[in-house]
Amino acid sequence: MECNRCKAETNSYTVSWFNTEKICDECDEKELAHPNIKEAKNMINSGKEWDFMDDKEKKCSICLSMYEGYGNNAEPLNKERCCDECNWKVVLARIELQNQNKDD
Ligand SMILES: [Zn+2]
Ligand SMILES: [Zn+2]
Repeated sequence: MECNRCKAETNSYTVSWFNTEKICDECDEKELAHPNIKEAKNMINSGKEWDFMDDKEKKCSICLSMYEGYGNNAEPLNKERCCDECNWKVVLARIELQNQNKDD
């Protein structure tokens, strides 16, 4: 299959901690190095994210339009949620962050 994030061909994948993307091992490693990974895991493990997503107001924090479904975690752009259309901006920001954090 193709990694949803980096589009590389991969034999094994894992689901992202931050959204519903299926990502390759390499992208998973980058996620695990993300400063917010603990928070993301805690949210998922405690089921909190799902409660939050049931919130009556499903308004994208980026484009401010209403969205259907679960939405996406908009961190690091902000602490709210965003629609699927805006999620790529968030993903790009995360990748940028990850690249900044990596010093080699
Ligand atoms: Zn990947
Ligand atoms: Zn949006």
